[in-house]
Amino acid sequence: MSRSAAVVGCGVGGMAAALALARRGWEVTLLEAFAEPRPLGSGLLLQPTGLKALDFLGLGEAVRAKGAPIDRLFGRTAQGRTVIDMRYADWRADAQGLGVHRSSLFGALHEALAPAGVTVKTGVEVTALADPARPRLRDAAGGEHGPFDLAVIADGAASRLRGALHPRARAPVYPWGAVWGNARDPEGRFAGVLAQIYDRAEVMIGALPIGLGPDAARGPLVSLFWSLPVARQDVFFADGLEDWRDRIGRYWPEARPLFDQLDHAGLSRAVYRDVSAGRWNQGACTLLGDAAHGTSPQLGQGANLALIDAVELAERLAEPRPVPVSLGRFQAERRRHTALYQLLSRALTPLYQSSGGFWSAVRDWVYAPVSMWPGVRRLGAHFLVGAVRLGRWPAGLKP
Ligand SMILES: Cc1cc2nc3c(=O)[nH]c(=O)nc-3n(C[C@H](O)[C@H](O)[C@H](O)COP(=O)(O)OP(=O)(O)OC[C@H]3O[C@@H](n4cnc5c(N)ncnc54)[C@H](O)[C@@H]3O)c2cc1C
Repeated sequence: MSRSAAVVGCGVGGMAAALALARRGWEVTLLEAFAEPRPLGSGLLLQPTGLKALDFLGLGEAVRAKGAPIDRLFGRTAQGRTVIDMRYADWRADAQGLGVHRSSLFGALHEALAPAGVTVKTGVEVTALADPARPRLRDAAGGEHGPFDLAVIADGAASRLRGALHPRARAPVYPWGAVWGNARDPEGRFAGVLAQIYDRAEVMIGALPIGLGPDAARGPLVSLFWSLPVARQDVFFADGLEDWRDRIGRYWPEARPLFDQLDHAGLSRAVYRDVSAGRWNQGACTLLGDAAHGTSPQLGQGANLALIDAVELAERLAEPRPVPVSLGRFQAERRRHTALYQLLSRALTPLYQSSGGFWSAVRDWVYAPVSMWPGVRRLGAHFLVGAVRLGRWPAGLKP
């Protein structure tokens, strides 16, 4: 008889987990708060590790077909000093990242759910979790779901269910976030590179090619971002955009035509949380993805880590052990990988997003020159692709 699983949250992690579990014979119900699940934000960078997990789920080709290959990360100060120059080829000659529109990744995962037999229930905001040994879920409208043999909590960095599993979990908001939007780059002038410009750590402007969006006929897109303290986001959206565009034009004249395409409606806010969840599991329940280990997107790893979580969870649960034991093993396997990237993101974020000149001076005069040394450069490329993991990679996922 098949075992039943509830997955809370129809984001990258939740959908990938639902799919991986269904493929392993679980009867999966996916519960999502939004009436119509949709991708949040604009674009993201998939690393070779995340792409490997998508390949494992049979979705790698569909996502690659819409994305934009990335060979290099390049960042310089407004004065022209190189701060980052990382190349995927420093890891492996043929390696590339993939910039994707969030809807391309979302669409590939979402379309695979029904054929795999996953039941998706939308407009269900799960508010409470009872009896972790045989989980039952309650929603905001008073509905009850379950009992299930397993509950996967993938409701994102702002998870409201995390506290039910681990009351002492913390998820403070980073003081700096960003605004994001997509612009057309019909001639592909920004192709191949995730490019960033900095002025100290108070200005960070970025451009990530993300390939084709939902309206593919209109050509390739670039995801643009502008770093902004969370406390200033309301003011940003209340003000006109002309001064902002002029400022960007002074820092990065070539990018000005792209930023000129953005208006308030085309920009979205992003805030990041630094999640410390302690234990991810209790009884037959586990956290997964950002709910377990959300961090700032400085290293572009969050969605990749969530995809790997999903595949590894299903693999651990396929072993002939009681569910709580498999969940403990799942966290033990994943913890070192996710904690390493959380730690690095935490350490690197002030170098790129902070006030004053101290951290940017550390970045420009210490971090940047050291990161160009050949051995360090190669190590940096390993970190970039997401391949640094203390412990073994499971079969089929080793990048
Ligand atoms: C600006 C920005 C840029 C980023 N760039 C990158 C990048 O380049 N590369 C990368 O790998 N990662 C990146 N990330 C991180 C990445 O977006 C996240 O790590 C990833 O989306 C996490 O997926 P998730 O499924 O865990 O959570 P989410 O995507 O947050 O999904 C959670 C889902 O749960 C639903 N939900 C929430 N509460 C409830 C509830 N109570 N009941 C039911 N449903 C609920 C939500 O509606 C949502 O659908 C970036 C993040 C940000 C903010």
